[in-house]
Amino acid sequence: MTLVDHRAAVTAGATVRSLAEAALERVGDDALHAFLELDRARILADADALDRRRAAGETLPLAGVPVAIKDNLCQRGTKTTCGSRMLAEWEAPYDATVVARLRDAGALLFGKTNMDEFAMGSSTENSAFGPTRNPKDPERVPGGSSGGSAAVVGAGWVPMALGSDTGGSVRQPAAYCGVHALKPTYGRISRFGLVAFASSLDQVGPFGATAADCAALYDAIAGPDPREATSADRPVESGTAALEAGVAGLRVGVLRSTFRQSDGAVAQVVEDAARKLEAAGATLVDATVDHLDLGLDAYYLVAPAEAASNLARFDGARYGTRVSGRDLADTYRQTRALFGPEVVRRIVLGTYALSEGYADEAYVRASRARTALCRSYARTFEGVDLLLSPTAPTVAFPLGARTEDPVAMYAADVFTVPVSLAGLPASSSPAGEVGGLPVGVQLVAPPFAEARLFSAMQVFDR
Ligand code: GLN
Repeated sequence: MTLVDHRAAVTAGATVRSLAEAALERVGDDALHAFLELDRARILADADALDRRRAAGETLPLAGVPVAIKDNLCQRGTKTTCGSRMLAEWEAPYDATVVARLRDAGALLFGKTNMDEFAMGSSTENSAFGPTRNPKDPERVPGGSSGGSAAVVGAGWVPMALGSDTGGSVRQPAAYCGVHALKPTYGRISRFGLVAFASSLDQVGPFGATAADCAALYDAIAGPDPREATSADRPVESGTAALEAGVAGLRVGVLRSTFRQSDGAVAQVVEDAARKLEAAGATLVDATVDHLDLGLDAYYLVAPAEAASNLARFDGARYGTRVSGRDLADTYRQTRALFGPEVVRRIVLGTYALSEGYADEAYVRASRARTALCRSYARTFEGVDLLLSPTAPTVAFPLGARTEDPVAMYAADVFTVPVSLAGLPASSSPAGEVGGLPVGVQLVAPPFAEARLFSAMQVFDR
């Protein structure tokens, strides 16, 4: 059921409560382990409150549609665990700006979704509470780190969900689960109330069963926020209004190098997706972005460096769970032991990258590579309106296949990470399937051209 179906049902007289009950029934006992919290009583009480708002004559843009929320976004009165034992019992005392905006728009907040611990991972297997399964094949991963959010939309349980994307965490799971998602321009969507991983990269992003659903969710949450220092102070172009604009006259740059780096069958499906844009009136040209190959290396220095600083606050004294030890040092040691192995790896890597004598070789060089990458994108966008590549080089891999090999795991983000370093908006849309498993096509746009992305995403739903 999409937002359009949902709105039609409400207009025809269905209550938000009856639609919420139907959604809860679809979820059943959550066989995918996509939710970390699903408080049925609270969801039904909230649905009743939305029905009262409607009865009082209020127009609700999101009409009580259920939206699932990644568990690193604060939602008042629910736990916000970040998939970590460190925050296993922590209850958010306030709403993230995006969550507050969803309440205002009349969405039904529908459970908190599973994720890799502190959003570090590409498969949701780094969750301290066990992995999520892919809705198209339960023996495979849903991608990550927003795997729970992608899975609940891919399963058809709810039409929309929120995730966060630092290096690919909404786009890559969207590709693996066969749904649409968008990572906005850095600064376009508020991060107030999003638990920080790597602050120069983190962005909140919408998932939707259709491009229209993704656009409606984007429209409800995007825009300036005085409570967020990096929030961009400029008006938002409506994603919904852009849906019907089409792609006639747009120049789409095809990043050939990414096709060669992908599984052959995946590349073929994405090639067909490019042809679809051409058939809809776009012009295809071959494009290159210099230094694209530096993306992963630069990201795995910059992101851990920022993570090491951001996660320093979880010391058991000021933030996070406290494990009391013999003395202060022992308390710190035992408390920090609550972090899982991938989080520890990132903290060690990040501390190394920033340490005296090594920072020039590591962090500073990575930052230079990042600047070079930003400039290359800007040069490429002088000649094209959008860039096209596969979202990921393969389809969803089997559970456990990459857990022993971090470098293989990191490679799942090879096409999404450079875009994050450059702060550009990008989408992933379902392009087709290989062996019954979804393939995603990634589109990248210049800063603040999200509307253009929605115009193109819509083509893949026709
Ligand atoms: N998979 C990447 C990582 O592990 C990206 C994660 C993300 O975007 N949150 O860091």
